[in-house]
Amino acid sequence: MFHRRDAETQRKSGGWRRTGRNASQTKNPTTYASANVMLSTLHSCSHIQRLDSLLLCVSASLRFIVFSSSRKVNLILGWALSGGSALLLLATVSLAVVFLTKLTLSQPSARVQVLGDFESELDLNHWRGPIRLSTAHPSHGKNCVEVQFDSNSSSFSISPPDGNWSRFERLLFDVYNPEPVPLILSLRLYDAVGGDGPNVAPHDLYRADRKLFLGSGWTHVEVALQNLEVSSELRSIALDQIRRLAIIADTGTRPLTLFFDNFRLVSGPERDSTVSSRAPQDITTRLEGRWVSILQVGPPDRISESVTVQSLRREAQHEHQALKVAIETAEQMGLDTLYSQAELVVAELGLYFRPSLAWFNNDREKERMFRYAAEACRRAREHLEKLLTGEIRLPERDDTQVGPPLVPPYPRLRNLPAKDGFFVDQDERPLFITSVHGPSRGLLRFFATPMQHIESYSVGGGSRWTVRACPIYEAVKTFPDTHRVGWDGWCGHLIRDFNATGGKKENVVICLESPHTREAVERYIEREFPKWRKNPDLLYNIMAYELQYICYCDRSQQLFRGWLERKHGTVDHLNQAWGTRYSTFQEIVAPPTKQSRPLPGTNRAQWYDWALFNQDRFSEYLMWVKSVIRRFDPVMPLAAGGSYSMLVGSNGTSGIDEEQIINRVDDVIIHEGSGSTLGMDLQLALSEKPKPLCDPEMNLDQVRYLLPHMLHGKSVIQLWHWPDQPPAEHPHHIDHSLAHGWRFSLSDLSALFQAVLDSRRLSREIAAFSSVPAQVAILYSRTSMLQLPPEMLTWHTTPYLRELENSYEASRFLDARTT
Ligand SMILES: [Zn+2]
Repeated sequence: MFHRRDAETQRKSGGWRRTGRNASQTKNPTTYASANVMLSTLHSCSHIQRLDSLLLCVSASLRFIVFSSSRKVNLILGWALSGGSALLLLATVSLAVVFLTKLTLSQPSARVQVLGDFESELDLNHWRGPIRLSTAHPSHGKNCVEVQFDSNSSSFSISPPDGNWSRFERLLFDVYNPEPVPLILSLRLYDAVGGDGPNVAPHDLYRADRKLFLGSGWTHVEVALQNLEVSSELRSIALDQIRRLAIIADTGTRPLTLFFDNFRLVSGPERDSTVSSRAPQDITTRLEGRWVSILQVGPPDRISESVTVQSLRREAQHEHQALKVAIETAEQMGLDTLYSQAELVVAELGLYFRPSLAWFNNDREKERMFRYAAEACRRAREHLEKLLTGEIRLPERDDTQVGPPLVPPYPRLRNLPAKDGFFVDQDERPLFITSVHGPSRGLLRFFATPMQHIESYSVGGGSRWTVRACPIYEAVKTFPDTHRVGWDGWCGHLIRDFNATGGKKENVVICLESPHTREAVERYIEREFPKWRKNPDLLYNIMAYELQYICYCDRSQQLFRGWLERKHGTVDHLNQAWGTRYSTFQEIVAPPTKQSRPLPGTNRAQWYDWALFNQDRFSEYLMWVKSVIRRFDPVMPLAAGGSYSMLVGSNGTSGIDEEQIINRVDDVIIHEGSGSTLGMDLQLALSEKPKPLCDPEMNLDQVRYLLPHMLHGKSVIQLWHWPDQPPAEHPHHIDHSLAHGWRFSLSDLSALFQAVLDSRRLSREIAAFSSVPAQVAILYSRTSMLQLPPEMLTWHTTPYLRELENSYEASRFLDARTT
C-alpha cells in the first residue's frame, strides 16, 4: 500500500506513470514495476501515459525500424529467413503497423478542462464563498481549497468563465472530510435558460439537494453530465450555457471545514496530468440525475485492513460460529433461543453485511463492529451453555406439561378485536405489534409482518407513484375544476408536486370539491378494495396520512360563506366579531395566502374563521371518503390524518383538526414520530373512547425512544426502515435505515431487537402503564394554535407550542401520569 503522500511525491517526480484508467491499479507497486520494465524496453517512450499512447509509440517504433532502418533490418531478417519469407513478413508487419496506427488514431482522445486546481491565488478568481488555499489535503498538485461552512456562509460556488460544458461527459472533483462520520451536502447547477439569480424557478436547475454524500476521509465525486435534466425533468440542462456550480452545506449551527480539490470536466479516459490521487478505500459518489451511487474505488481485495482488524475479524467469526452451534444444541434440548438468535443476526450484520457498504468498510468502523460481534456472541453463547449445563437454573415448573414459548408468536392480524386501546389476541392479551418497513422475511422471527397495514391513498384516489394509472389522473387532465386554487405551498400528499419523492416529476395537485375529483376517488376505491381484502394480516387501512389541505376555488368560497352564515347567523354579528362592514355574506372572500401563509395585515378574526372552516371541511371530506370505503368494506379499521400537524406553526393552513379526525373518522389513531411522547399523549387524550394508537412510519432517530412510546400506549408500530438496498434517491435516508445507517451501532440494534421481544413477552405489564389514571392534565388551546400573526404560520414552532412542550416536559418529573 502506498501512502497517499508517497504516491503524490512519486507521481510528481516522474518516477513512474499511470498506464490505465483504473488509478487504483496503478497504485500497486508490482503493477508499476512491471509497467516500468515494459516501458524501459521501448526507446523514447518515457512520456507514455495511456494504452493508446503506448500503441502509437509501438507502431511508430516499428515504422522507424521498417522504413528508416530497412537496410539493417533486411540484413538481419535475410540472415534469419529466406528472401521470400522476409518480404512476406515485412509486408505483414507494414500492414499491421498501418492497422494499428489507424486503430490508435480513431480512438476518442481525452478532453479535460480544469475548473479549479487551486495551485495559486489566481485559481480562486471565479470562486466565491468562505474559501482559502490550503496544503492540508490536496488530491492533485500541492494545494487544495479549504472551505469553512457555517450558518452565515453555507455555500461556495464557481461562475465559470467558459460555460460551454457540452463537450464533456462528467464533472469530477475530490473532497476530504476530516469528520469521523459521513456528511451529506447539496450540489446545484444553474444554466442560462433557468438563470441563477434570486428569482430562479425552484426546479429549473439541476438540484442535487442532500445528495452529495461525503464519507469520512476522501470522496471522489462524479456528476454525469450527459442527458442531465433540470429537477422538474421538463427540459435538459443547457450544457453549453452553464452559469454556476454551487455546493451547499446545511450545517445548522455547527461550523464545518472541508477540503476540495481538482474540479474538472472530463470526456473520455482521463490523462495522467489531471487525474487525482485515489486509494482503494476512498469513497466514490456518482450523481446521475436523481440517483446516487456510493461505492469505493476498490477493488475490494486491495482495500487495506489493519492487523488488529484482521485478528478481530477472525475472532468474531469464530465466536459467531460457536454461538450458532450453541443455538442449534439449545434448540435440540428445547431451550428458548429467540434472544440469542437476535444477537446472532446483529453479529452477522456487523461481520458480513455492513463491511460491504462503503461507509462502514474502514478500520475504524470494522474494529468497533468486530469487537462488538465477538463479545456479544461470546456472552450469548456462555449464557446458553450455562442453561444447558444447569449452572443457571430455570424456574421450577410442572414438568408433565409443555409450557408456551417465552415470546408468544403473533396471531394472524386481520380482524383482531380491540379492547381498552389495544388489539388483543384470543386470550385477551394486549399485543404490541412491531414490524419493520422493508421486505425482509428473515426478520419475521422477531417482528410482525410489514403487511400489518396499508396506506390505501383513498383520500386523493392515488399515490404519487401510481397516480398516472388512476382515474384521478384522467380527471385532472380533462377537467380544470379538479385543480387546486390559490395555494402555493406543499400539496399535502394530494397528490404530488415537484418536491414529491418517487414517480414522474409533475404537479398533480387536486381540489377535493370538484365532483369530478369525487367521482374519480369513488372509482379508485371500488377498483382497489378487492386487493385489501386478500391480505390476511391487514390490521388497519390508512386512507392517507401526512395530509394537509387548503383550497380557494369557487366551491370553497361558497362553502365558506354558508359556514359563516351558520356560525354567525347574521352579517351584523359577523361584522361585530370581525370589525368589518360587509352588507351580505356573498361579498366575503376567504383571506388569501402567499408563500404558504396569510398576507401581512390579514384580518385575524377573519383568518381564524377561515382556518376553522378549512379544518371542518377537510374533516367532512375525510368522513365522506370513509363512507365510500364502508360501502365495500364494512369492518376494516380505518384511519387518516396529519399526525403531527397540531404541534407545528402551520396548523392554521393544514386543514387538520386531529380532535375531529380521531373522534369522527378514526377507528385507530395514527401518530408518527419518536422523541418526545407529547404528540401521542395529546392524541390519546383527544380521543373520547380508547382506541389503539398506531405508528405507520416510526423513524426512531434513537433506539432508546422505542420503549417510552410503548409505555405511553403506542402499540402498533412499523419502524422506518429496513430496505433491501441503500436508498438511491435520497442518501440521507440511508442513515434512517436500521441496517444501513451509521447512526445505529450494533449495540443499538441489539437493544432494539431486545425491546421488541420484551414488548411481546411482557405485553400485559407494559400495557398496564398506559391504563394508570392520570393525575395531571395540560389543557390545550385550539385558538392559540390557529390564531397566529401571519408570519408564524410557516414557523416550525410558536411561543404557545414551545410553552406547551415545556409544561409537558416538566410534568414528566412529577412522578404522575399526565394527560
Ligand atoms: Zn377546491
